[in-house]
Amino acid sequence: MTPQLVFYIIIAFIILSFAIDQILDWLNAKHFDDPIPKELSDVYDADTYRKSQDYKKANARFSALTSSFMLVVTLLFFFADGFGFADQLARSLSNNEIVAGLLFFGIIILGTDILTTPFSYYKTFVIEERFGFNKSTPALFFMDKLKGWLMTIIVGGVLLALVIWFYQISGALFWLYAWVLFAVFAVVTNMFYARLIVPLFNKQTPLSEGDLRTKIESYANSVGFKLKNIFVIDGSKRSTKANAYFSGFGSEKRITLYDTLINDLEDEEIVAVLAHEVGHYRKNHIIINLFVSLLLTGFTLWLLGLFISQEVFALAIGVDQPSFHAGLIAFGILYAPISGITDFLMSVLSRKFEYQADNYAKETYAAQPLITSLKKLSRNSLSNLTPHPLYVKLHYSHPTLLQRYKNLKA
Ligand SMILES: [Zn+2]
Repeated sequence: MTPQLVFYIIIAFIILSFAIDQILDWLNAKHFDDPIPKELSDVYDADTYRKSQDYKKANARFSALTSSFMLVVTLLFFFADGFGFADQLARSLSNNEIVAGLLFFGIIILGTDILTTPFSYYKTFVIEERFGFNKSTPALFFMDKLKGWLMTIIVGGVLLALVIWFYQISGALFWLYAWVLFAVFAVVTNMFYARLIVPLFNKQTPLSEGDLRTKIESYANSVGFKLKNIFVIDGSKRSTKANAYFSGFGSEKRITLYDTLINDLEDEEIVAVLAHEVGHYRKNHIIINLFVSLLLTGFTLWLLGLFISQEVFALAIGVDQPSFHAGLIAFGILYAPISGITDFLMSVLSRKFEYQADNYAKETYAAQPLITSLKKLSRNSLSNLTPHPLYVKLHYSHPTLLQRYKNLKA
């Protein structure tokens, strides 16, 4: 294959993946005005329903605009030899292959971030603000950005530097070393997520005394989950939207409830949501997810190992001096069809886990308060109650409200 052919295959992949996303979004948007299923008729009154339709449409327009803009910029970058320029710039700053690789990715990531920041700012302070969800301030927004950058530089920088170094010392076998590195990294971040990463952005506190705590305690005792592993997080500092999640494993397992969830729901409903999260723990969902994603990482790295030493891929993206970092960019794009399939399979697994967690809540607590809590949470976040089935299959990590309702009622 000539570099030119590979270049056009890469361009075709970029356009095709954009087209598929747009078709899915368009299919989904065609159902925005569908009548609400009768089982969910109590979720919205007429006014709120209209507001939810406006919200869906505003988001769809915004997402189409953002992705079209990014498509144009990406194509311009490819056709104007942007990667060749970034590579030369990086190499003019350092002759060291690892440092040049880090600078190269630094330039690409920083450039992308500068381009996308106005869009995320608009999303938060115009769209979310207009519908009453936003609680963030510009100061907090930019502080989050800054922390995100620092984390990317430190964590991403160390990981990338090690992987390039493995490639230098072991050639084609580098993927095995990289796999071990990513496995250790994934286990540590999964286990200590709540202790290492969350505190950079939020405050977590134990449940405060009172009725709710007593009710949670009696449920937690009945299923053998320790109260000291339940925390409340100050999600309200950024958004009115509510959430809860389970993270970690072993001694570091914990359930985190948003303070917004506690404000929005009745005590029984909060216990039902908590029961759902305990279900994720009891069914080992974190550990299974971790295991599956480790297998996927191994497969991806093995493929990368076959691919990375082929000079044609660096040349295809306009980089004259073949290198690990240039090969990685080309690989990342050509891998998209495979990652599309694996993402789909992961979302199938994720929806299966959600049903299992719902069933666990139903068996160990009750279905009705979980149903009313899901309905309230959908109303408060102006959720789309009539998504297109294909869109759900490909994009949703959770079953739809109607699917969960039917499963809980069954
Ligand atoms: Zn869940």
